Amino acid sequence: MSDKKVRLRFAPSPTGGLHMGGVRTALFNYLFAKKHGGDFILRIEDTDQTRYVKGAEEYIIAALKWCGIEPNEGVGFGDGAHKPYRQSERKALGIYKKYADKLIASGNAYYAFDTSEELDEMRKRLEAAKVVAPQYNSVSRQNMRNSLTLSEDEVKKLLESETPYVIRLKVPRNEEIRFHDIIRGWVVVNSAQVDDKVLLKSDGMPTYHLAHIADDIEMQISHAVRGEEWLPSAPAHILIYRYLGLEKEMPQMAHLPLILKPDGQGKLSKRDKSGLPMFPLNWHDESSGETYIGYHESGFFADAFINMLALLGWNPGDNREIMEKAELIENFSFERVNKSGAKFDPDKTKWFNQQYLRKRSDAELAEAFMPVLESKNIKADKNFVTEFCRLIKEKAHFINEFYDLGFYFFIAPTSYDEKVIAKKWNENSKAVYTKLHQKFEAISQWNVESITKTFHDAETELGKLDMQLVRVLTSGVAGGPQLFDMLSLLGKEEITKRISTALAQLK
Ligand code: GLU
Repeated sequence: MSDKKVRLRFAPSPTGGLHMGGVRTALFNYLFAKKHGGDFILRIEDTDQTRYVKGAEEYIIAALKWCGIEPNEGVGFGDGAHKPYRQSERKALGIYKKYADKLIASGNAYYAFDTSEELDEMRKRLEAAKVVAPQYNSVSRQNMRNSLTLSEDEVKKLLESETPYVIRLKVPRNEEIRFHDIIRGWVVVNSAQVDDKVLLKSDGMPTYHLAHIADDIEMQISHAVRGEEWLPSAPAHILIYRYLGLEKEMPQMAHLPLILKPDGQGKLSKRDKSGLPMFPLNWHDESSGETYIGYHESGFFADAFINMLALLGWNPGDNREIMEKAELIENFSFERVNKSGAKFDPDKTKWFNQQYLRKRSDAELAEAFMPVLESKNIKADKNFVTEFCRLIKEKAHFINEFYDLGFYFFIAPTSYDEKVIAKKWNENSKAVYTKLHQKFEAISQWNVESITKTFHDAETELGKLDMQLVRVLTSGVAGGPQLFDMLSLLGKEEITKRISTALAQLK
């Protein structure tokens, strides 16, 4: 690595909520920056006003906060030396025009005055001539109205009369463009495949191509890390840096692999039907009226979500899977990011949450679960709830499953699993379990050991007892945590009362 300070930027466009692919891009930027003691910057790329979506910027900021991958500089995260960090505001400062003018002056960019009708005609002409990918390039530009085909005088007149124009990059006809990508190695593209990209639009706004380069230079970005969808534009970017005389200052590039659908067939879409969220937080798109559910609101822990995302396309070089943020930072490198797409795995994603659930202390879980009980008007002692969490967490992936898995810890049963009763309750049962009830009544120190001993001692007198039946009599349901743990936690008074109620109800 060069001795340039490590500075990475996450540069989303506020065209919608930040989906999980975007979060992963932010995460990889963050992990690398932190690993090298560098900066992580949030830049908002809002030059395409037609695609601006209200609330998107706030969403992006809130999502990064929830994920715990907070920029130390940029929109919403304090003013660094390079403010403003919103491109629309930077445009107002004339930053981009300066770069476009420089390219014009050196003859590497030109004015194009073509109307949209003329561009349409060009496309039709090229299609009729069976050109595979019709584009404005070194060949087609010769038949268009631009400062390369018009006389100097004509150009001057058009500019003076304020005829709308765009500024385009003048891409050479047949030149090899080579660049290095940290993940993909050397990439070679012939310039014949690159179009004359618009750099400055007719409304004076820069396009992404020009704006991000100007900003990466001005903000002294050391590594430009972005999604694979930008790889085809990279050759044009290399040319822009070259023509600006900035190849040495150019950030190192890394294009991250796609996240694929669970079946590996195509890119994961924000409308994926795998049943898991595609967004970190609930996202409501006001312009389209669409609502998407978030990981947070679905009960995922942010650290589990981040851990899962980190392993979508990256690995630590061994088979470790559970890695908290500090460990991810310590181990992260772009060299270990795969070139090929990474399949999203919904089951594995839930598994991650389960692992993090088990890592949480019982007291923390109780803290998070108490409000659920309160919302149901259930009063419970904090210590009891803490013990409840210890037992129930083994059965769950999410805290929001706790209540359904263990409601009977808070509410005595009034009905009993019919299948178990039909199968196991017979004419002797009442007598047998009445005896067991008496023996439970006689326990002086109620705990797992005394319950276990009493239960097994009773078997010498009563014959084999059925644990599942005892579970059903005391909880109403057929499965749950360890039976004696459950009996112990519910307490002697509650358990004996519940058995009496059941005995009275069952024939
Ligand atoms: N604004 C671009 C996007 O949203 C950023 C790409 C980049 O990081 O350079 O995808």
